[in-house]
Amino acid sequence: MSYTGPDFEPPQRRRSPLRRPLTVAIAALVPGALLGWGVYAAVGGPDDGDTGGSDRAGAVRTSAAPSAGASSPGDSASAFPHGDDGKKPAGSSPAPTSKTSPSAAQPPASGPLKGKVVVIDPGHNPANFQHASEINRKVNVGTHWKECDTTGTATNAGWPEAKFTLDVAHRLRTLLEAQGATVKLTQDGDRPYGPCVDERARIGNEAHADAAISIHADGSGAGNRGFHVIMPGPVHEGAADTRAIAAPSAELGKRVAGNFVRVTGTAPSNYLGEGTGLVTRTDLGGLNLSTVPKVFIECGNMRDSKDAALLTSGSWRQKAAQGMSEGIVSFLRG
Ligand code: ZN
Repeated sequence: MSYTGPDFEPPQRRRSPLRRPLTVAIAALVPGALLGWGVYAAVGGPDDGDTGGSDRAGAVRTSAAPSAGASSPGDSASAFPHGDDGKKPAGSSPAPTSKTSPSAAQPPASGPLKGKVVVIDPGHNPANFQHASEINRKVNVGTHWKECDTTGTATNAGWPEAKFTLDVAHRLRTLLEAQGATVKLTQDGDRPYGPCVDERARIGNEAHADAAISIHADGSGAGNRGFHVIMPGPVHEGAADTRAIAAPSAELGKRVAGNFVRVTGTAPSNYLGEGTGLVTRTDLGGLNLSTVPKVFIECGNMRDSKDAALLTSGSWRQKAAQGMSEGIVSFLRG
């Protein structure tokens, strides 16, 4: 079944949401991380962490605001940033199956994120393939109607994106709970399909999340590599009103991107975001309907063999989760 991308419809005109090179953000973040390390360690950061987890609030200061309606029809890759192959993953799954033990993590009595709520949205659902009619029904996302959910993409070897997103979500949950956060997943492989994109947003809203992150991996052309973080542009139409969350979401996005590149050592996208790893969009229901600070992250391109080698590596996924976690911690402590 072809993936037409309810999450990722033909994109908006990209107007350089944040032209500032990510390296600048990184340069700003690193000293903050180092400064914050003592505090972080003192309040119970993971002993095996290889990086500081508490970038200072002042570490990142940019005046750039996400521009509305960015996009670039001329960018063919971005037109189908999420899986244009229509190829159903094979039954076999040669990719890694290493798992974390999320349930084993017991939130500490205290921690830097005590009292904070984080909603993690693992993109798609491993069982969406068996529920085409259900996930194809249209839901209103304020600006327009789009499919409830999609199958997501897969590596060329057939490892589905939905398994990737759930694995990283588990790792991220463990890390955030270790910091004292209350973590909720929008789905945990525990429902037949979905949830729909509007419900994914609603779960974050109703949890009054302090931060929400939707985890994905892209399905673009071979040679397109790297991660990017998607932030909501200002939208005010129908049930969608992102005006209040656009700025904090941009801040969240910058911190996640900066920490992700630092911890994973993976370069930002070479096909979107003009080297910043940051993209602003106004067509995603999961962002448009959010009333809490929220970003998407496309961790890499599953259709590129080099990116796929990273995405299918358990140790790389752990770093990916660590980068996200440190970005979220930085944002929430800011
Ligand atoms: Zn996806």
